[in-house]
Amino acid sequence: MSSGQVIQGMKQNLQVFKFGGASLQDPDGIRNVGEILSTYKDQPILVVVSAMGKTTNKLEAIVAAHAAQNGKALALFEDFKREHIEACLALFDAEDEVFVSLNDALVEIDWALEEEPHEDYDYAYDQVVPVGEMVSSIILHAYLNKIGLPSQWLDARDIILTDNRYREAWVQWEETQENATRMAAPMLEKGGFVITQGFIGSTTENFSTTLGREGSDYTAAIFSFCLDAESMTIWKDVPGVLTGDPRLFENVTKLDLLSYKEAIEMTYYGAKVIHPKTIKPLQNKSIPLQVKSFLDPTGTGTYISDEVSDNYPPLVAVEKKQALLHISTRDFSFVAEHHMSHLFKMIAEYRLQVNMMQNTAICFSICVNDIDDKVEQFSAAINDQFKVMIDRGLELITVRHYQEKILDELRADKLVLLEERIRETVQLVLKDVPGMKRKAEA
Ligand code: ADP
Ligand code: ASP
Ligand code: MG
Repeated sequence: MSSGQVIQGMKQNLQVFKFGGASLQDPDGIRNVGEILSTYKDQPILVVVSAMGKTTNKLEAIVAAHAAQNGKALALFEDFKREHIEACLALFDAEDEVFVSLNDALVEIDWALEEEPHEDYDYAYDQVVPVGEMVSSIILHAYLNKIGLPSQWLDARDIILTDNRYREAWVQWEETQENATRMAAPMLEKGGFVITQGFIGSTTENFSTTLGREGSDYTAAIFSFCLDAESMTIWKDVPGVLTGDPRLFENVTKLDLLSYKEAIEMTYYGAKVIHPKTIKPLQNKSIPLQVKSFLDPTGTGTYISDEVSDNYPPLVAVEKKQALLHISTRDFSFVAEHHMSHLFKMIAEYRLQVNMMQNTAICFSICVNDIDDKVEQFSAAINDQFKVMIDRGLELITVRHYQEKILDELRADKLVLLEERIRETVQLVLKDVPGMKRKAEA
C-alpha cells in the first residue's frame, strides 16, 4: 500500500490533539491529560504538546543571560532542570529510564552554555528553547506508556522543515508534507498515540527553529493538514472560544459555533486563545477545529468549521504592549509613495508587526507590537530621512460586530490615540491617563 493510500484510509478517524502549557503545568496536569487520552484508547491520534507551564519564558531567560554573560545562566538552568526532575519524581520511580531520556535532552543546553554566546541571537535562541517541548513530550510519552496507553514518540523536527528565519521560521510545505506522509503516517497506521512537539522545526542543515511564540496550535494545524486529519482539537483552560479574554473582561460568553472566517479575524486581531496561523491550513481542507476545556473534557466547547453564521455578538480582542509611531519627513514634504515604499521595506527588514496604520498629509502612523528593541532599531535606521515620535505602553482593542455601548465602555478613562472603523470592525489604540476617571452617569 502506498503511503498516499494509507492516509486516505486513515482519514476516517485520524485526529490531532494539542495540549498547551497550561494543561501540562505540573504532575497533576500530566495525570489529567493521561485521563483524557484514556477515553480515546486505540484510536489513531497525533498528540502535539507545548512545554510545561511557563517553561518557554524560563528558557528565554537562560538564553538572554547567556548572551549577556551576566553569570546568571547556569543558576537559571539548574532551576529549570530541578523543576522537570521533580515533576518526573512525582510520576515515575527514581530508576525509570525516563530520566536517561530527560538528561539526553537537557545536555543540549549544557553544550550551548559551554560555548561563547553566538553572534546571531535568534539562532542561539532556537538551539536552546525547543528543549522545553522536547522534555514535556518525553515525559508525557513515558507517562502514557506507564499507565498502559501505548504511545510512540516523534521528533517534530524530522517532519516540519522550515527556512532559517530563526524565531519566526516559515514552513516549507512540500518537504513537510513529504516527511509527514513518509514518517508520521505509518506510525499512526500502527494505532495508538503518537506524541510530538509543538512550536519547533528544523532547517535543511538540521538546525532547530521555532515558529513564533504560542506556535504549538499552528504545529497541530500543520500536521492536521499534512495527514488529512478528520478533526483537530485544542485543549485549553477555558470552556471554548469566548466573546473576550476572561482574564480581562467579565460577562464573557462561549461561542458554540464559529466560522473559519470569523476565527481568522478574531485571532488575527489578537484573541489569544488560538494562534493566528492555525486556522488557514484547516480551512483549506475543511478540517473542523474544536476548542475544548481540559478541565471539563465532556463539555461542548467551540466548533469551528465552514458553517457560516452572520449573527455574532460583539467580540473583543486586546493586544497589549503596543507602540504607536508617528513618522514624518524631515524636509516637511508630504509622505508620498516613494517614502511609503522605503518605509515598508524597512518595516519588513526590522520585522515589525504592524497592527494598524493611518496616513495623513504629513504623518504616517503605525501601531506595532513593542517587542525587544525593534522599535528603537527601526527608528534609528530611518532617522536620517524621517522624524519619529513614539508613544509606548498602549493597548490595541479590536471589536468585531460592535455596538456603541461596548465602545463607550472600552474607551472609559482612556485616551483614544487612533480609531478606525471598517465595516463591522472597530479598532482603538488606547492610552491610560493617570488620574483621569470618567464621571459617573447622571
Ligand atoms: P495554551 O495552554 O494552549 O498555551 P493559551 O494560554 O495560549 O493556552 O490560551 C488560553 C487563554 O487564552 C485563556 O486562558 C484565555 O485567558 C485567553 N483568551 C484570550 N482571548 C480569549 C477568547 N476570546 N476566548 C477564550 N480565551 C481567550
Ligand atoms: N511553548 C511555546 C510558547 O510558550 C509554544 C506554545 O506554547 O505554543 O510560546
Ligand atoms: Mg500558550
